[in-house]
Amino acid sequence: MFDSDSPTEKERGGLASEQSSAPGLQRRAFLATSAATLAGLALWQWRKPRVLQAARPEPREVTIVLFDDSGQLLRTIHTTTVVKTQDDWRKQLSPNAFEITRHADTEMAFSGKYWNLHEKGIYRCICCDNALFDSSTKFDSGTGWPSFWQPIARENVTEIRDTTFGMVRTAVSCTQCDAHLGHVFDDGPEPTGLRYCMNSASLRFVKAP
Ligand SMILES: [Zn+2]
Repeated sequence: MFDSDSPTEKERGGLASEQSSAPGLQRRAFLATSAATLAGLALWQWRKPRVLQAARPEPREVTIVLFDDSGQLLRTIHTTTVVKTQDDWRKQLSPNAFEITRHADTEMAFSGKYWNLHEKGIYRCICCDNALFDSSTKFDSGTGWPSFWQPIARENVTEIRDTTFGMVRTAVSCTQCDAHLGHVFDDGPEPTGLRYCMNSASLRFVKAP
């Protein structure tokens, strides 16, 4: 009988020791909860802009320069940015163009349709038709991405500091619709010394008439 009582005493002892450490447990639980809350809050803060952006950004007033298909400057206009939902962009674009323009993805080098194109014409935004580059500024960079030493008009592209993937780069997007186009680097040829390294999938080539 005593033998059978012993485990009970041990259980009690165990229970007692658990009870005595209860404040510690509560403290740990509290700290764990706080950490989870902070992590959740951080995640929420981090996600918030993306969620809002995904929902529908507010249209902004922008200035862009219009060009005809021969690359002739028509006029400068003040307009508002083209704003669509992610679903609308997805319906309009190929899966590849959607991921690159709307989620800043990058196509594989030498995989796009324009890196080796030498025809005369202009390159428009695949999303909104904004004129972006003229073939007269295109050069063979050897990178496998269509490369230009300047945009067709400074107003038509927007350059933003990009620190993703542990690199400091300058991302280039379409001023009229915020489509991600590629990046610009300072190792290009004269006269600008710039290399606008673009994704073919972000562009639509229009042959000069
Ligand atoms: Zn655009």
